[in-house]
Amino acid sequence: MSNDCIFCKIVEKKSSADIIFDGGDTLFFNDISPKAATHILAIPKKHIISLSTLVADDHAVIGKLIHDIGHVAEEAGLEEGGYRVISNVGSNAGQAVAHLHFHILGGEPLGPLRC
Ligand code: 5GP
Ligand code: ZN
Repeated sequence: MSNDCIFCKIVEKKSSADIIFDGGDTLFFNDISPKAATHILAIPKKHIISLSTLVADDHAVIGKLIHDIGHVAEEAGLEEGGYRVISNVGSNAGQAVAHLHFHILGGEPLGPLRC
């Protein structure tokens, strides 16, 4: 938990979010500013800054998170039309929230990158 992290606050229920799926050590909720018809954020509950700061102990939860992404995308009806998964790492990618997250985008033709 990081005190000034908005996603940790969502995990701790100190900030509200439209939760889609709670996987125990993972959490899925709608992006507050959607860039596609469906835009879901997938996070580990543990405060990990990005893919660049993973340590060996994180491997299991990240594997679980990737697995849950497939499950949530299917439940959201994205599988037939397809979808995109993006994780921004650092400033060149425009990472705004320093808590590892994957964007799940779909529900319409996506064209070029959006996140
Ligand atoms: P990044 O640019 O870090 O890859 O993406 C951060 C994402 O988090 C953005 O798409 C932004 O709309 C979303 N976001 C930021 N603050 C909140 C929030 O308080 N609640 C929700 N649900 N999404 C947020
Ligand atoms: Zn955090």
